[in-house]
Amino acid sequence: MLYLDQRRPHAGNHIDVCLISHFELSEESYEDVLSFNNDMLGFKPNCSYCMDTMSVEEEFEFDFPRDMLAIQRYVDNLLNRIQANKLPAMTEKDFNYLSQA
Ligand SMILES: [Zn+2]
Repeated sequence: MLYLDQRRPHAGNHIDVCLISHFELSEESYEDVLSFNNDMLGFKPNCSYCMDTMSVEEEFEFDFPRDMLAIQRYVDNLLNRIQANKLPAMTEKDFNYLSQA
């Protein structure tokens, strides 16, 4: 899932949630995702959100933990599809705390 926080100084924040999926979700799974979003975002004051689905051809796979920057390339590619700003510049080091299994 991709969360895009759109800061709107006068009208409260708005978060666009992108569900990235390489298959059609069942109604039940979709409801689970909506409920997850509500748990994550529903309590935020002055913040609205909406969700779109973005379908991709294949599940994301990469050479963990050797090629962590593959995550950045993948996300940038998705951001490009929805015309959002790219991620800030990163190095493998930025993933150090994430890659400790
Ligand atoms: Zn929206």
